[in-house]
Amino acid sequence: MKAIILMGAPGAGKGSVAERIRECSSFVHVSTGDMLRTAVKEGTEIGRKAEQFMQRGELVPDDVMVRVIEGRLGQGGDSISYMFDGFPRTETQAVLLEKALSKIGGEVDRVYYLEAARKVLLDRLTGRRVCRLCGANYHVINIPPKQDGTCDTCGGELYQRADDMEKTIENRLDVFEKQTEMLISHYEDKGLLKRFDSDVAVDALLNEILRDLEVGEL
Ligand code: ADP
Ligand code: ZN
Repeated sequence: MKAIILMGAPGAGKGSVAERIRECSSFVHVSTGDMLRTAVKEGTEIGRKAEQFMQRGELVPDDVMVRVIEGRLGQGGDSISYMFDGFPRTETQAVLLEKALSKIGGEVDRVYYLEAARKVLLDRLTGRRVCRLCGANYHVINIPPKQDGTCDTCGGELYQRADDMEKTIENRLDVFEKQTEMLISHYEDKGLLKRFDSDVAVDALLNEILRDLEVGEL
């Protein structure tokens, strides 16, 4: 069992990188953001609890996050490798993850921290568009679809995430700096953290990470 974590501010590209790693490896992608958005869409109890926080760009409380992540781990036996994206975001969640992994005979093997300047993050988030059907990500300038408002791969409609409006974005970036950045030192102290400049093409970033995964024989 292997476990890696992708960390980075909103807009750092965790989701895009995760998607690409998933395509060329056996890592199972666990995105708490995606899981929460699904819960909101389906109107589950967790979704109803999370929605207001997500709309404000705040973190969903840890007691709700416990329930989101519980049951997601350990279903497929110990041959599974996990790639966490957007989790953990607080020290409490980090401890929770360590406990959950140790129960299934694993531990956090590597943490990849994707860094980019605030201006870059803002531009990426305000221009982001997502496919309603398949979840593919686009950007009005950096990654435009062939046809305006339509997904290249599935033809689905592209929309702007409710929390990708400028006012909410500023808050999400502040929340990251205040609440999540301290996790960096948590993993740095354990010698697990690797920093990557994410203000580069996804392919370049992907290659660097894949090289590290190979070198580390993960
Ligand atoms: P981003 O990293 O771009 O903000 P995500 O899809 O990871 O996007 O998260 C969207 C929102 O979902 C967050 O702003 C937060 O409200 C909620 N969320 C996702 N993961 C967590 C988590 N681990 N803990 C608390 N809230 C979370
Ligand atoms: Zn699509």
